[in-house]
Amino acid sequence: MNQEETFNTRTDISELGEFNLIDQLTFETVLKQPTSIKGIGDDAAVIDSGDHFTLVSTDMLVEGIHFDLSYTPLKHLGYKAIIVNLSDIYAMNAVPTQVTVSIGISNRFSVEALEEIYKGINLACDSYNVDLVGGDTTSSQKGLILSITAIGVANKGQVAYRSGAKVGDIICVSGSLGAPYLGLHILEREKQIFAELPTLQPKLEDHQYVISRLLKPEARKDIIEALEQGNCIPTSMIDISDGLASELHHIARQSGVGIIIEEAKVPIHPDAKMQAIDFGLDPITCALHGGEDYELLFTISPSDFEAIRYLPDISIIGEVVTRNQGIKLISESGKEHVLTSQGWNHFNQ
Ligand code: ADP
Ligand code: MG
Repeated sequence: MNQEETFNTRTDISELGEFNLIDQLTFETVLKQPTSIKGIGDDAAVIDSGDHFTLVSTDMLVEGIHFDLSYTPLKHLGYKAIIVNLSDIYAMNAVPTQVTVSIGISNRFSVEALEEIYKGINLACDSYNVDLVGGDTTSSQKGLILSITAIGVANKGQVAYRSGAKVGDIICVSGSLGAPYLGLHILEREKQIFAELPTLQPKLEDHQYVISRLLKPEARKDIIEALEQGNCIPTSMIDISDGLASELHHIARQSGVGIIIEEAKVPIHPDAKMQAIDFGLDPITCALHGGEDYELLFTISPSDFEAIRYLPDISIIGEVVTRNQGIKLISESGKEHVLTSQGWNHFNQ
């Protein structure tokens, strides 16, 4: 394409979507360094550091897009910003060791407000045994931007990529899914009510579980440690940031396999189930498509079944099948549904 054509063509970003956009911008990227083991396309990049691998992952949080300061305490924001990055390192079956923190701030923020964010950042770094080793500070015209890079370490041979799932593998997920999406729903609803009737005090006590899953997520360090103790290296792994269905699609596509999961096996906390029903939402739809769970989705070889069988907080939700079988969900009534990465609808049976 010559330059004139480039200027005459205008494609809206919304036509592509996030994943196609990344593909389009990076498909010509070639790895030149022999130490670049894995580049774009997984939860973290993998770099050969001699006797071990180094992992690197970056995530950016933008005010108004990823968080709303009208209901996000600043300390929680700092904590969550670290957690979402550590989660990407754990998702490679690796251990995070350092982070850098870059902030873009407008003069709307006071020093005290920024200190509050750093209290959360430091708390997360302490509880996950990670060092804050640098960053950058700049001004922004409006709004707050937090960009964090996490660095981790893994033994060679221990790293779990999105691309390693094999036919016959068992599909596992940690914790439970769907709660953060419901927490967001509640906070958005209360924000709306407050805008209309500012004298009404929000009633959030009954919704503590789902709200805390949104505002104060944890990364599944414990699962990585338990897998190591059980001598189990997952064949593939990803963390659930965009929703279980979307992450299953990543694993299937990158591993060249199909996937079948059972609705009845997808873990949903009772409080999340109750909240969903209260909102007239389908709990399984929230669990499949809600996102921001930061749980780990992984596959293991059937020979490792005994190793994970009695580990707490891991659910077996399905099986890896051949690619031509597609990505399917068996509903509680026993019917088979094609599982799209977005919008599987319980009512379209
Ligand atoms: P995750 O949800 O695990 O954080 P993403 O969906 O953000 O992963 O990113 C998928 C892959 O694309 C990662 O390898 C990431 O490093 C890469 N990526 C995302 N945005 C860009 C970009 N603007 N330029 C180059 N690589 C990118
Ligand atoms: Mg990820």
